[in-house]
Amino acid sequence: METSNQTMNTIQEALEDFKAGKFVIVVDDEDRENEGDFIIAAEKITPEKVNFMLQHGRGVLCCPLPEQRCAELDLMHQVSTNTSMLGTPFTVTVDKLEGCTTGVSAHDRAATILALSDPASRPETFGRPGHINPLYARQRGVLQRAGHTEAAVDLCRLCGMREAAALIEIMNEDGTMARLPQLEKVAEEYDLKLISIKDLIAFRLEKGEGLEDGSSRQQDGLQPIGSTLIERGETVTLPTMYGTFMLTPFRDLTTGLEHIALTKGTWQEDEPVLCRVHSSCATGDIFGSLRCECGEQLHKAMQKIEAEGKGIIVYMNQEGRGIGLMNKIRAYKLQENGEDTVEANVHLGFRPDERDYGVGAQILREMGARKLRLMTNNPVKRVGLESYGIEIVDNLPIEIAPNPYNLNYMRTKKEKMNHNLKLV
Ligand SMILES: [Zn+2]
Repeated sequence: METSNQTMNTIQEALEDFKAGKFVIVVDDEDRENEGDFIIAAEKITPEKVNFMLQHGRGVLCCPLPEQRCAELDLMHQVSTNTSMLGTPFTVTVDKLEGCTTGVSAHDRAATILALSDPASRPETFGRPGHINPLYARQRGVLQRAGHTEAAVDLCRLCGMREAAALIEIMNEDGTMARLPQLEKVAEEYDLKLISIKDLIAFRLEKGEGLEDGSSRQQDGLQPIGSTLIERGETVTLPTMYGTFMLTPFRDLTTGLEHIALTKGTWQEDEPVLCRVHSSCATGDIFGSLRCECGEQLHKAMQKIEAEGKGIIVYMNQEGRGIGLMNKIRAYKLQENGEDTVEANVHLGFRPDERDYGVGAQILREMGARKLRLMTNNPVKRVGLESYGIEIVDNLPIEIAPNPYNLNYMRTKKEKMNHNLKLV
């Protein structure tokens, strides 16, 4: 699974450059955006650097900030319900007011980016709308969402710099997005370090606080980031109609949401464990709704684990794939009124990143699982876990035959989301 790429730099190397005010090229997973961004600390931005980004990156110039800082600066989310493919966390756009003219020039954009990094800035420092796109980064960084936004703020934190960055996607001259081989050339041409979000996640997970040990913290001047997302509860026996399991509750310290690990048997760390990561679905899991196949999948997974004598179900409390029950039911209502694509957009999770894989991955690690035989029909779910250092050694479909009520839903899953569904 792990492809040791000769051309990738280490996170340590990238942090040195980043701290010195150089750009770092950050690539995400090939199954996510598969894009590379120039990322720089906002406090190091200059008009020349903005010009470089626009000239050689040519994507959309954005300014990632911690969610908390966006709230302080009164940067509202651009839309209340984010339906973009990857949940790109745009806020309203801004321009710095004082000392700027139209906000477009490299000078003006650099001034806006710098002001966004300035602790003295206030909501009234900025006019809205403007020409810079702030992005709100999740509090726990790449451990929570494997996006460039979180990677950018994590780099700032790890370097002990102001938590604000500037980024732009790197495009080829013909207007297509630059992929890894092209990004390697760009890195070489401009003498920049190239790192992956996957490596950044691994760096934070493996080094605990993002560091070799406590003593090196002073030496290299790096700041710690808490990497524990979850609190573990007591483990009890749970006899069920599908077999007897052990139940351990977890609490997501960021959101307060409670999740469940249902396990059976024991395993070695290098042993591939039968596993399902299940997103809660009140209608399907509890009421046996035929609008989806969630309940049947959950119970089938329990039966398979019972038959094998060992395995894990991580039950993630994220109704409607992270959009909440109200929105899921609203989508159902719209569908009843004939808008059948809406459910596909909302309930089926065209925004995989809205479901925070980091927490599920940490629960799996906590339960001693590193290698999984994952029961899923959803390739996106696999990618999410792999980014967090969990190896998927096998992908076992858990297909339920469609019924007249969910045939359209299943067809959308198959056709639009590449789910592996042979019975549809
Ligand atoms: Zn469901």
